[in-house]
Amino acid sequence: MADGGAMEAGPLELVVKDSGKVTGFACGKCRQTTTMMFTGSYLGTDEERLAGARDAAVKHCGPWLCACGSEKRQHWEKCDRCHAADQAEEIEAKERAAFEKAEKVAAKDWGGEYVWSDRFEEVFDSIGELLGRYEDEGEEPPEYVWECEPEKFVLDAKHILESEIESQEVPDGAADHLLTDDQEELQDALDAWLTGHPVKWWRPAYKRAVLLREET
Ligand SMILES: [Zn+2]
Ligand SMILES: [Zn+2]
Repeated sequence: MADGGAMEAGPLELVVKDSGKVTGFACGKCRQTTTMMFTGSYLGTDEERLAGARDAAVKHCGPWLCACGSEKRQHWEKCDRCHAADQAEEIEAKERAAFEKAEKVAAKDWGGEYVWSDRFEEVFDSIGELLGRYEDEGEEPPEYVWECEPEKFVLDAKHILESEIESQEVPDGAADHLLTDDQEELQDALDAWLTGHPVKWWRPAYKRAVLLREET
């Protein structure tokens, strides 16, 4: 093993003693080597194979760099900031597409029950009240908010049975009849119980946008 580079923690060259030929490298930082640090793992000219093996050694202990120049985590395509920016962009593109497709209603014509406010993270049943909140905060309201649709709590007999069978580690076959014969009866009982204990909530449906900046 000979010291490869002039740089301090650069890769170490692994040389065949008899021929003096470099066949691979070890990481200059942790001094370990991997298959990918050997020229035999690469195709191409001697130079290309040497470069590939050397590159693997250089990158073994990092730092790993993102295309933007910042450090990134090993095996990650991008740094955390670029990754977050990509995700934000994706969410924004989805939102724009949903808005383009959506039915648009001027606030003054809106007769729905609730809208969702991302800013305040709650539902409002009155646009006036929502605009009032923005005024209180000294902020401009957004161009639009999404109308909500109700969602109902459900109890699914099949799902409940399957998850109970799994969590109680019922052996294969022992409860097969539960999943065929008695399911409907249980579903009827659950539905009847829910009728007496209804649970409902409102979620933005991304179908109808209520425009907040329309002149009234
Ligand atoms: Zn290393
Ligand atoms: Zn980056």
